[in-house]
Amino acid sequence: MPGYKKPCKYCNELVESDGGVCPYCGKIDPADEFRCPKCRHPVKKEYKACPGCGFELKVVCPLCGKEGFFCDYCVHCGKRLTVRCANKKCGFEQPPLGDKCIKCGKNIKGENI
Ligand SMILES: [Zn+2]
Ligand SMILES: [Zn+2]
Ligand SMILES: [Zn+2]
Ligand SMILES: [Zn+2]
Repeated sequence: MPGYKKPCKYCNELVESDGGVCPYCGKIDPADEFRCPKCRHPVKKEYKACPGCGFELKVVCPLCGKEGFFCDYCVHCGKRLTVRCANKKCGFEQPPLGDKCIKCGKNIKGENI
């Protein structure tokens, strides 16, 4: 349906409903629901845990240090919640889910490589 618009879930401006990037705030999938960073199950901001995998939807932002709801972006500073694997051969960007890279399995901060 061309021209059908939905409010961006981050900034509430009306955007095309077929995904992409919000032209107002630059965030990805503006019209989509919030999703679990681990299994991509749709979640709500009020949820404490993901109904799909039980993952605790709480994160300490690596950029501003505040704890908040775990989606693709920090609810406090608005930055993308990703960390880059310190392993030079990998460098995979991913949500800050733990100490190990989800791609290469090495310590994400680069120690003990
Ligand atoms: Zn937006
Ligand atoms: Zn999940
Ligand atoms: Zn933050
Ligand atoms: Zn890696």
